Amino acid sequence: MSDLDRLPEFLDTLDAEFHARGDWGAVASYIPELARVDPAQFAISVALADGRLISAGQARKPFSIQSVSKVFSLACVLSRFGESIWHRVGREPSGDRFDSILLLEQEEGRPRNPFINAGALVTTDELLAGRAPKEALSEIIGFLRASAEDDDIHIDADVAASENATGHRNRALAYYLKSFDNLVNAPELVLGTYFHQCAIEMTCEQLALAGRGIAGLPGAPMLLSEVKRRRIAALMMTCGHYDGSGDFAFRTGLPGKSGVGGGILLAIPGRASAAIWSPGLNAWGNSQVGTEAAERLARFTGWSVFG
Ligand code: GLN
Repeated sequence: MSDLDRLPEFLDTLDAEFHARGDWGAVASYIPELARVDPAQFAISVALADGRLISAGQARKPFSIQSVSKVFSLACVLSRFGESIWHRVGREPSGDRFDSILLLEQEEGRPRNPFINAGALVTTDELLAGRAPKEALSEIIGFLRASAEDDDIHIDADVAASENATGHRNRALAYYLKSFDNLVNAPELVLGTYFHQCAIEMTCEQLALAGRGIAGLPGAPMLLSEVKRRRIAALMMTCGHYDGSGDFAFRTGLPGKSGVGGGILLAIPGRASAAIWSPGLNAWGNSQVGTEAAERLARFTGWSVFG
C-alpha cells in the first residue's frame, strides 16, 4: 500500500484532531459578512495526478475564496495580455501586510506583487481594459468553471456588498494607485469588480479541481501555457501568504495562496492540487488550521518542490 492509498484515512484523522483540539484562530472581522462565519470548521480536498479526488471535513460547503481569486485574475490577465502587466506590478515579496500602503509611496505606485491587495487591484484594472465589470467578472468565473469542470460557481452578492460598505483601506489603495496613474479605470469601478471577484464562493472540492491546471496535472483542462503556470506557482510560493510567505514556504515547501475567508490553494507541480478551508486566521491573516493542515499534508506525502 502506498502512502497515497492511506491519504483518505490521514485526512479524516486531521479533521477529527482539529475538532477535538478546538483552537481555530479568529475569523476576519473587517468584512462584517465574514465575521459571522463559525470558526470551528475544516475541510480539505486533494486532486491527485491519477484523477482521484480525496476529501475530508466539509469539502462540499461553499466558502468565500477572497484572495485566492487573485491567482485566477492573474491567470486571466496573463492569458489575455501576455506579460504587459509586469510594467505595472512587481514580482517581489513585500514583507508587509496584505493591505499595506507603506511601500506604495516609496515605490511610486508600483505594487510589489499581484497578490497583495494593491497589486491585485492593478491586475483587476488591467483585466477591465475597456470592458464592463460584468465581462471581466464573467472571464474570471468562466476560467474557474472551465478549470474545475463545474458550472456551479457563483458570486455571493452579500459578501461583495459587505466589503463594499467597509472596504475603506482598499479604497485608499485604489485612489492612491490612481494618483500615480497606475489605474486606468475609475477607482470605484476597479474596487467594485475586485470586491465581487473576492466574493466568489467555492467548495474545497471545486477549488482543488480548479487548481489542477496550475499544478500541471495530466488530464486537467489546460488553460495556461507551461511557462505561465510555472510563473504563477513561483509567485504563490514567494508572495502567496503576504508577510507570512517565508514561513509558509519553510513549513510546507509548496506554492500556496491564502484568502482571508480561510481558504488555501496548494499547487504541487505534477503531483496534486489541494484546497484547504478553515476560517480562523493567524496573525498574518492566513488560515491558522489550514496552514497547519498544509504542513502536515506535505510531511505525510513527502511533497515539496525542493525534492
Ligand atoms: N477582499 C479582501 C480584501 O481586499 C481580500 C484579502 C485577503 O483575502 N487577504 O481585503
